[in-house]
Amino acid sequence: MRFCDLIDKKKRGEALDHEELSAAMMGFLDGSVPDYQMSALLMAIFFNGMTDTEAADLTMITAKSGDMLDLSAFGNKSVDKHSTGGVGDKTTLVVAPIVASLGGIVAKMSGRGLGHTGGTVDKLEAIPGYKVTLQEDEFISIAKKEGVSVIASSSDLAPLDKKLYALRDVTSTVDSIPLIVASIMGKKLAAGSKNIVLDVKYGSGAFMKTKEDAEILAEKMVSIGKKCDKNIRAVITDMDIPLGCMVGNFSEVEEAYSILCGNESSDVHDLREVCLVLASNMLCLCLDIPLDEARSLAQNAITSGLARDKFRSWISSQGADLDAFDELISSYKEKTTPVDIYSDKDGFIDKMDTERIGLAALALGGGRLNKDSVIDPFACIEVYKKTGDEIRQGELIARLRSSDPSLLENAKNIYISAISISNIKISKGKVIYKTLT
Ligand code: URA
Repeated sequence: MRFCDLIDKKKRGEALDHEELSAAMMGFLDGSVPDYQMSALLMAIFFNGMTDTEAADLTMITAKSGDMLDLSAFGNKSVDKHSTGGVGDKTTLVVAPIVASLGGIVAKMSGRGLGHTGGTVDKLEAIPGYKVTLQEDEFISIAKKEGVSVIASSSDLAPLDKKLYALRDVTSTVDSIPLIVASIMGKKLAAGSKNIVLDVKYGSGAFMKTKEDAEILAEKMVSIGKKCDKNIRAVITDMDIPLGCMVGNFSEVEEAYSILCGNESSDVHDLREVCLVLASNMLCLCLDIPLDEARSLAQNAITSGLARDKFRSWISSQGADLDAFDELISSYKEKTTPVDIYSDKDGFIDKMDTERIGLAALALGGGRLNKDSVIDPFACIEVYKKTGDEIRQGELIARLRSSDPSLLENAKNIYISAISISNIKISKGKVIYKTLT
């Protein structure tokens, strides 16, 4: 069948069979199908969706498009976690050492920032000396020694997703449920862990804008994971406001580290709670223990300092210079120029457009505008007021920082346009919506 006929079939709302999907995707991967034809197919999928069978087929085609990591040596202890993406989402940096300090094995490949969302690899790269690229044997040996190793996704793992995602990013076809299912689950299946916990986010800073869509996405991913013999859960969490109070690479490492050092301030309650829920679910699967026991173990790992010590030994094993890290924790802000945003009236924050807040961080230099952009690791946003908070005229809403002062004005305008203040008090939403098992 000509590629054009496949586009036509999908355009008319018919399902493609495994053979047709495989030929299309493999042709795209080897370069024989041009971007313009794949773009048309992606848009037809965006509008007409996919059946569950098509989504499962595309997931397997993605998983098998490159190497598949074998973590069977870790038995049932290997556990992965994936967030569908958000702003201020630094949970991997907290949950990976908690889980590793209690006997789980987190051998994880993570991504870089996508669009307005941040990426774990960019955050880790902000730590002086930390190596995000390792040979497979070194990656496995650190995971064995520390119980945790996190590196950048290798180009050999699910290469179809890398190529497809780059095209989706520029053809406005990212927010398609079946394409997200195949992208995430294809990568997770190739990454080899026996246990998987998904953090599926909804709200203005997420790809899924509503709880309902997030739940559909979560159900489909859990169902595919189970069919592939994985122990899998999905936690559906709020991304209508940034998670925690810091947005920007090194500042997020610092905030995550503060949680591991016992920061229990109400400002970071949302971040701490999401981390504890994710870590508990991961422990529950990989240690085969009840959820409440897993939660109290996770909490104790923080209060005893076990998880903080694990964080330090993990990053050190991966090349980090701990003295330089400690020094940077207290000095990184001095490497930037700040600009403050104050409220021009009394009232309540009634809405935050969190996608825009992600774009403000990007405009400060904290993300990539194109694939060759160099990231400013110290660019960040300190969020002082969030949805539901009361605010007085002249009070500080946020402080933006960049190593390049010329970027501040534009970023400030973007941030201001993301915040709405009214005289109606709205209640703060819950950060955890539900868990699908
Ligand atoms: N995250 C992914 O890894 N893939 C998507 O398609 C969307 C979010």
